[in-house]
Parts: sequence; structure tokens; C-alpha cells
Amino acid sequence: MTVDYGAMIRLDKVDPGFAMPFTHRVIDGAVLIANDLGDHAFLTPEEFRRFVEGEVKPDEPLYAKLRDKRFIAREIDVAAEAVRFRRRKGFLAYGPTLHAMVLTERCNHGCQYCHSSVVGMGRTDTDMSIEVASKAVDMALSTTSPWLTIEFQGGEPTANWETLTHIVKYAQERNLVARKELSFALVTNFSLMTDERLDFLIENKVQICCSLDGPEDLHNKIRIYKGGNSWQLTTDWIRRVNQRYVDMGLDSGLYRVEALPTITRDSLTRWKDIVDTYVSVGSRAVFLRKLDPFGFAEATARKLGYTMEEFIEFYMTAVDYIIELNKQGVEVMERHAAIMLSKILRESDPNYLDLRTPGGAVIGQVAYHPDGRVFSSDEGRMVGAMQDDIFAVGHVDQSYQDILRGDTVRALVFASTNDSQPGCVSCTYKVWCGQQPEYNYKTQGSIFGRMADSNWCRKHKYIFDFLMKKLERADPVELEIFDRWTTNRRQDHFVQEVEQVAQPAA
Ligand code: SF4
Repeated sequence: MTVDYGAMIRLDKVDPGFAMPFTHRVIDGAVLIANDLGDHAFLTPEEFRRFVEGEVKPDEPLYAKLRDKRFIAREIDVAAEAVRFRRRKGFLAYGPTLHAMVLTERCNHGCQYCHSSVVGMGRTDTDMSIEVASKAVDMALSTTSPWLTIEFQGGEPTANWETLTHIVKYAQERNLVARKELSFALVTNFSLMTDERLDFLIENKVQICCSLDGPEDLHNKIRIYKGGNSWQLTTDWIRRVNQRYVDMGLDSGLYRVEALPTITRDSLTRWKDIVDTYVSVGSRAVFLRKLDPFGFAEATARKLGYTMEEFIEFYMTAVDYIIELNKQGVEVMERHAAIMLSKILRESDPNYLDLRTPGGAVIGQVAYHPDGRVFSSDEGRMVGAMQDDIFAVGHVDQSYQDILRGDTVRALVFASTNDSQPGCVSCTYKVWCGQQPEYNYKTQGSIFGRMADSNWCRKHKYIFDFLMKKLERADPVELEIFDRWTTNRRQDHFVQEVEQVAQPAA
């Protein structure tokens, strides 16, 4: 249904004092309105006209609906809303929480879409030294955030095992003074995993993440490994690690290997196989990620790539299938949808760094290159690997304060703020959406980008529209599923224990 705004709204009749500032968007004939506090409502076109013209009377159900969603200016409790707003933007009070340490650029896989611009296993000159690693840890623990995660990235980070174990031990020791909520995460292809190494990771509470592109033929076609069957290796280790967690008495619904698929052209018709594979290895979440433009993926885009419309069709079909599985009692979620729904339905922001405003570049995450350069993010580091240091914000020899106060950081914060983006400032989704300046730069040549022809924007608009339609029409069973997807359960086991410092005698 097409809504004729010209006929529906008469500007001379609009009552500017009635409504709170809001944005709107028409979805399948319904008018979606949203405000900066993160509230939304669906109105019929006639309700929308009466709303903007200030015609709605206090004794009407529509008035109560608009009041409860904080769209009527005179009904706003400013102090209470300030508290809500502060909670939603709580991440602004803290420094970077994610510290990606690239331990080496070496890798023994030749994945066709590899994002990391890797080198062969003989290039030990690309390893992070113990000295750089110690300085990176010192910088990470300088963050003003009370909690942080040190994430081991590569290449294949376990190829530089000595530095990995040093970082874990050194960070634990330094944290006796820093006293942060510290956790570790490892992104691995499992090819160099051994029982001994797994014991170290489990004993030191290092969370394990990996890539799994779906069924065996799909995974092995893209993730080329001359040393064996990558899919078999990956799924065997996922099961073994998950079993270790069960043996330790940890909740299997909460503690398991986090696996991530990357979606290529061949994946588009395999949505069911991908989801079924995840369920079969015990995963509770599938994160359906579109190919991104970093690293080698750009050079192979013609072979592996697809249009945004093709991706969205794949995505919607897969999410519908996941919802159907949930209705049959299989607890599995799509991670992107869960993040977006959390932002829409919950009072606090999940702080997903790619989807917040301002964005996560530097003020939410930093990446440490093996040579000691500090980048705005892992994506910024990948741009750096392509001989472009625009996202290099400093070096581990500098102080944390020097880096965070740099001009590049200020520019990135400004560019990743939706209210400073001409394309976003009037968008209905701006309160839940976010920017990635590295993506804008890589695809459009400017950290600001142009949202009117940005694939980033199109993807998010499509998915927000899809989810909003689901929310408007959801039955109680679907709402219960979404409630489960958006219930944030802390993984306290992965937080490092800090021994209590003896208190002085009274
Ligand atoms: S990126 Fe697109 S969808 Fe997101 S806030 Fe900006 S205009 Fe809206």
C-alpha cells in the first residue's frame, strides 16, 4: 500500500508542541515512528495524521499508547528519561573494551575470502614479539573501562603459541594491580590445537571461537587446508571443547565454542544446511555475516560475492527457518537479529561495536599489529595490511592517553555518529544503528561515506525493516522466542579471578 503523505499531512496543521522529536518510516502501509530514547510504535496513516496534528485526546487508547512510548511532549518526565538515555549510552563512559592482538600474520589455511591478508607459515618475521606483547597488554589494561577482553587474532594466532601464553600469564599478573574484569578470547582454525594446548586454554579460561561455514563440502571448498580436512578438524574440536565444558559442570546452554560462518555465493542456497550443521555441533547461535570488503575478499569478490538483495533473501529465509526450529523446541538464534532486537526491545544497549553510535573505532576497540602499531579496529588493521595506514592511531610505545586523544580518533568518533551523518540524522533506525568508518573508507573512499548508496546502510535498513515487520505481527510464541534471544546471560566463568588484596589491619 502506498501512503500519500501530500494528501495525508497538511503542514499548516502540524502541532509542533504536541509530539516529542521523532522520525518515521512507512513499512507495508503502517507508519513506524521512533524517538531518540529508543522507543517505537506502529500507527495507521490516519493515527499518524492525528498524532502530528496534535488531535489525539487524553481519553483515547491511542493517547495512552503514544504516552507510554514517550511520544507526547507534555507527558515526558525529563529526569527519568535522562536516566534511561544515560543507561542506553553507558558505553560512552568507558574506554575500549575489545583489544584484538594480532599474534602473527602466518596461517596454514588458504581461505578464499580471507580477511586478514595472511602470509605463509615460514614468515616468522610477522610474529608479535614478547616485548611488543607486554607493551600491548600494559596499554590494554590502561583502558578506562572496568572490563575488557583481549582477543587473539591472526593469521592463525596459535602459530605464535609462545606469545599467546606469555600474554595470558603477563596480563593475569598485571591485572592483580589493574583489577579489571578481564577475559581472553581466541579465534582459531584448530589446525594447531593439541590436548596440551587445550588444557592451557581451559585452565586459563580462554574462550574459544572459530569459523565454520556450514556443511563439509561448503566449508572445505572455501577454507582450503592442505594439511587435512578442515571441516572434520573444526567440528571434532568443537565437540571436544564443548564436552570439556560439560565435564566441568558448566551450563551447556551458555558455554560452548562460538563458531561463525562467512556467507559466500555458494552459501546462498544452503541456508538450511548451514543452520542444521550449527545445530548438529551444539551451537546455539549462528551469525550470518555478509562478505566484507577487507583483505583478499575484494580481489575474489566476483567469484564469491553476490548482490545485497541476494544476501537479504538468503538472510530472511534462514532466519524464518531458525524461528521455525525454535517453535519445534530447538534453541538456536541468529546473532545479528538478536543484537538488533536487543537494541529495540531492551532498555540497555548490548554494546555491539559495529552497531552503535558513536561507533566502536578506538573508543570501543583497538587492534595491535605484530609490529606494535595500534589500529582503530581489526578492520582498520586489515586496511593497514593493504599498505594504507589511515587507521593507525599510534604505537604501543606511546601512552594510552596520547592515543585516545589523537586527531584521528576524534575524526572517527565524529564520522561514526549517526546524528552527524546527513543520511542517518533523519533515519528511523538511527537510535539503534551504527557506522563503521573503516567500511565507509574501504567502499566509498571517505570515513563518512554516503549512506544513500552505501551497502552497509542498505543491509541494515533491510534487516531492521524485516525485524520490525516481525515485531508488529509476532504472535505470543514468537515474542517469547525473541525474549529468549535478547536475554543477556553473563559468561562469568570466562572472567579472570583477581585474588583479593590483603586489607591493612584495622
Ligand atoms: S546507516 Fe542507514 S539504516 Fe543505519 S541509521 Fe544510517 S541511514 Fe539509517
